[in-house]
Amino acid sequence: MNIAIVGAGYVGLAAAWHLLQKNHDVTVFDGGLGASHVSTGLLHPAPGRKAIPTWNWQEGMESATELLEIAGSDTFLRNGILRFIEGEERLIPEGITVFSKKYLAGLKKACSKATFIQKWVHSLEELATFDRIVLTTGAESLAWANLPLKKTIGQCLICRCNEPLTVSLLGQGHITPTEEPGICLVGSTYEHTEKPDPQKALALIDQVAKFYPPAKEFKILDVLTGVRISPKVGYKPILQKIGSKTWVLTGFGSRGLIYHSLFAKLLASDI
Ligand SMILES: Cc1cc2nc3c(=O)[nH]c(=O)nc-3n(C[C@H](O)[C@H](O)[C@H](O)COP(=O)(O)OP(=O)(O)OC[C@H]3O[C@@H](n4cnc5c(N)ncnc54)[C@H](O)[C@@H]3O)c2cc1C
Repeated sequence: MNIAIVGAGYVGLAAAWHLLQKNHDVTVFDGGLGASHVSTGLLHPAPGRKAIPTWNWQEGMESATELLEIAGSDTFLRNGILRFIEGEERLIPEGITVFSKKYLAGLKKACSKATFIQKWVHSLEELATFDRIVLTTGAESLAWANLPLKKTIGQCLICRCNEPLTVSLLGQGHITPTEEPGICLVGSTYEHTEKPDPQKALALIDQVAKFYPPAKEFKILDVLTGVRISPKVGYKPILQKIGSKTWVLTGFGSRGLIYHSLFAKLLASDI
């Protein structure tokens, strides 16, 4: 079948990969950059504020790791993640740090049989010649379907750090190493506001310095913001058929990495 995917973030690219494995002809449209490009790259069993192991985390980690390896062994770090919770420091041994931009580039390369078109899609009529349509449009998903979703602004600072990190640190906010030694990301996705707030982003440094005091010496190089979209109730992503040949897969919230491959695989089976 001839399948169009709108959106080339974690989810759209994972969908492209799994649909290609089923020998479909895949065309991916993307006209911008979404949350996956500003994601700080934490992949572990208990994302979210409450630190409770998430639904089906073993299968999620397994499926995500499979795609990470396909994208390239240099797209992630498998050193665990240090979690600071109520004054205690604990290692999450399964924790993986994903170098998001490198991972997206590696996954796109692995999907070289697909056609990639840089274009903003405005209506389903533009895709009328395709047999199936998949909308993995992240925060833009509400433009296509009336789904019970809410938006949250996430902030991410690109920083120079004196001591290069080899492991991600997670507390109220988080610090992750990047593929570039001496450059780290400081992020948080807990600002429940509709608009980006640079002042709040800068206050992140004070927040993470509470569990990692050397953060006070970080030099901020850039401030990025992105929107993550989550279900209004619960935290499982939404996979829904809308119309005779169109599917929407969205609502990954802070669980983009743990669920992107698992749900893309489900979608490919459903199609
Ligand atoms: C600051 C920040 C940090 C985060 N950190 C983590 C983390 O550490 N770990 C984790 O698991 N998750 C994290 N997340 C969440 C994660 O980034 C998201 O869950 C994930 O990126 C969602 O992927 P997606 O493919 O659904 O959406 P997106 O990555 O937003 O991709 C959607 C794509 O669709 C394209 N698009 C939309 N509409 C159209 C259209 N009409 N035509 C053409 N193209 C279109 C957009 O340009 C975009 O590229 C973070 C989010 C933010 C904002």
